[in-house]
Amino acid sequence: MSVFPCSVCRQRKPGKLATAYWAWFLADGERSAWKLRYCPADAQEALLALLSKLREMGEDSTVFACVSCGADATNDSDPIYLTLYLPGKEPMEYALQLDSACAARLRTPITTHGERLADRGGLVRGPSPSASAWDALGLVPA
Ligand SMILES: [Zn+2]
Ligand SMILES: [Zn+2]
Repeated sequence: MSVFPCSVCRQRKPGKLATAYWAWFLADGERSAWKLRYCPADAQEALLALLSKLREMGEDSTVFACVSCGADATNDSDPIYLTLYLPGKEPMEYALQLDSACAARLRTPITTHGERLADRGGLVRGPSPSASAWDALGLVPA
């Protein structure tokens, strides 16, 4: 049995859980970071469609296409960063390009089930804090 319950179904299941660190920047540049543990069924539910789409889009797809719906997110970009620890695997990092509507939808289960981490808790890798400072300069479209 795993020591910790799954963050989504709250059950202790046999075997190890996957751990995911989710992070994004709020409008004021503050970083919001969340930790969730997933049992295999909930990991599949939460991640499979998203990550397969990401893989499908591949390297050569439009950088600013929303991972979730495929719409152009150039002017409506709201990325979410994911570091995923699957038992026995190297951690995987993803930058999910999303438009704000899809980002909001994706965040709902994360903030409902997850545990909020202190800002820059050191656990979440993902973007460096300087990213928000650069955003504030106005050199990149908001
Ligand atoms: Zn579960
Ligand atoms: Zn979308």
